Amino acid sequence: MKMLDIETGLSPHQPEPPTKIAGFGIPLYSYPAIPPFLQGNPNITDGYRAHLSPKLCVKSACILSNETINIWSHLLGLVLFTFYQLYDNFYYLPENRAETGDHFTFTVMNLCFQVCMFCSAGYHLFSCQSEVASRRWLRLDLAGVSVGMCGCYFPGAYYAFYCNQFWESAYMFAMFVLVGVCLLAQAHSEYLSNDWYRRRLMLYAAFIFAGVVPVMHWVLQTGGFGEPFVQLFMPKVLVMYVLVLLGGLFYISQFPEKLFPGRVNMFGSSHQWWHIMILIAFGWAHHMGVVVFTHWRTHSCTIVTQTNNDDSWSLYTFLGIKV
Ligand SMILES: [Zn+2]
Repeated sequence: MKMLDIETGLSPHQPEPPTKIAGFGIPLYSYPAIPPFLQGNPNITDGYRAHLSPKLCVKSACILSNETINIWSHLLGLVLFTFYQLYDNFYYLPENRAETGDHFTFTVMNLCFQVCMFCSAGYHLFSCQSEVASRRWLRLDLAGVSVGMCGCYFPGAYYAFYCNQFWESAYMFAMFVLVGVCLLAQAHSEYLSNDWYRRRLMLYAAFIFAGVVPVMHWVLQTGGFGEPFVQLFMPKVLVMYVLVLLGGLFYISQFPEKLFPGRVNMFGSSHQWWHIMILIAFGWAHHMGVVVFTHWRTHSCTIVTQTNNDDSWSLYTFLGIKV
């Protein structure tokens, strides 16, 4: 998930001497020595891989470069969500009398996270091959972000509107439209250029903040902030937003390397924090899925309907103040 200044039409880059030879004879380069398509963050001054064959790219996962944490954070994420996919479908859900819809929802959620983790790890592993490979993997990486966000929204729409099939279907449809728009935008030839940096950010921000609409709708239909279900779940939604926003802040600000150029080349750079925040956010989304699934195993739709009928909506009930 790295924003690169991909410049086309340049003459082939002439390799410069590496600053270090790491394991498997893999050379590591300083920022000025890498080809333009790998450049993008001059405050990461060293530890770059470049001009590697696919085989050496795979081997480079086992050496310390400035991509090691980026690669492994999401490779381990891929392992984690593959484990969840199997554990949820073959143990946890059957043990808790899950229905087909629960299996489908958990499968889609875990699969979206798996796809995102795979594309991201693949991009960081193989982008150092060539400009063509870098562009292909970057497109996959960015598409993976959209798919990963879909994995967060899907169980939200399914369980938040568990008792209201119209809105459940409407929000799922809206989510697929948003993902479609993101993927279509990525097909544009200018999408990866620096000119579109702001548009890319705006698109993702719109995608993230669009989630506020169904959340507030859910709060209203459940009976306001005073309802136990809302009080159980709302703090978890806020934690989710804090994690994603924190990750986004690292991504945009390029902190801490902007303040400490060259000091966090291998460990602690902004992109690594972004990866870790996304991994935790997906793990948290999975936890939220488990909590809300458990809720609907012990509550029925009639109870919620009854509550809504008893407390017809007003500003007071919305704010949780009963009169
Ligand atoms: Zn990344």
